[in-house]
Amino acid sequence: MQHFVWNAAPGRVVFGAGSLGSLAEEVARLGARRAVVLVTPTQADRGARILATLGDRGAGVIARAAMHTPVEVTEAALGELRAMEGDCLVAMGGGSAIGLGKALALRTGLPQVAVPTTYAGSEMTMLLGQTEGALKRTIRDSAVLPEVVVYDVDLTLSMPPALTATSGLNAMAHAVEALYAVDANPVTSLMAEESLRLLAGALPRCVAGDATARSDALQGAFLAGVCLGAVSVALHHKICHVLGGSFGLPHAETHAVMLPHATGFNAPAAPEAMARVARAIGAADAAQGLWDLAARIGAPMSLAALGLREEDLDRAAAIAVASPYPNPRPLTEGAIRALLGDAFAGRAPS
Ligand code: NAD
Repeated sequence: MQHFVWNAAPGRVVFGAGSLGSLAEEVARLGARRAVVLVTPTQADRGARILATLGDRGAGVIARAAMHTPVEVTEAALGELRAMEGDCLVAMGGGSAIGLGKALALRTGLPQVAVPTTYAGSEMTMLLGQTEGALKRTIRDSAVLPEVVVYDVDLTLSMPPALTATSGLNAMAHAVEALYAVDANPVTSLMAEESLRLLAGALPRCVAGDATARSDALQGAFLAGVCLGAVSVALHHKICHVLGGSFGLPHAETHAVMLPHATGFNAPAAPEAMARVARAIGAADAAQGLWDLAARIGAPMSLAALGLREEDLDRAAAIAVASPYPNPRPLTEGAIRALLGDAFAGRAPS
């Protein structure tokens, strides 16, 4: 007999090609009169164009968003937001822009419209990771969940192949871990499997320049984001948080390298989940199939390629096992050190 809890997060999702055209209407639905657009510095022009579509309801652009949501960036943005008398946040970009929107919503209670342009999935979660000094802390708070998410497939067309590959594998990692999460349930498992099927089919076509595959990829990323928001994460996300938070490795790239290894490690303890992953991606073996997919789409294949130093592996393994997330297979420092050694050298998952 299966027992489970399913908590559906509130929120409205608008999906399609050209759905950015409904942004002004969505802002108006929230009753906002002075919406502020949030982007990373490199997307400032795009932010200005989107502000223009809001007409009288747009108040300005804050082009400060940065990876891992540094608290000092949020505080500077808060000053700008107050000066603009903003009453609604429109975060457009990857997880960095959406993270800034969440951090500002937490401090002001303002409503948010998220407009994702990568596959990271943050827009569907109540999670916010903020960095202060060299420390990254993750909180879960319903106040950070965007009220509206506008997925416009057209905005993802500009993602270069490298970002497409790593961000896509980042999304797949949410879906894989949802299948063996301690609180997995039939609803998220259905979404996870469909997410993996869509992404595994679409990513090779996207990186080859086939724009018609972008809709499937974004839909897969949306479903993966729902999974990330609904159930717990495990070893894979723990290791990525350690490598990003304590060693400064880049977010999506680290997920891309680690996913086959964490999957291989957990395989003996989660056979049903592995069968579902393998079926969804059309492979005989889940870990090997993810490894082959990563290679095929040109993702980085080793932690060494991301700039980690071999002498950091012992410390990374120790941090990862010191406060583990619930995981189907029990962890030992030796086993995690061996897994990190394989990922560092770019060996196939064992
Ligand atoms: P990102 O938002 O930092 O974007 C990476 C780079 O790509 C940036 O320079 C950005 O301007 C650019 N970019 C974004 N979309 C583009 C597009 N369509 N075309 C061309 N360039 C584009 O990276 P990310 O991987 O999306 O997000 C990573 C951040 O999100 C991390 O801080 C991570 O911790 C956070 N995150 C949070 C959650 C959560 O639930 N809280 C989930 C996933 C990721």
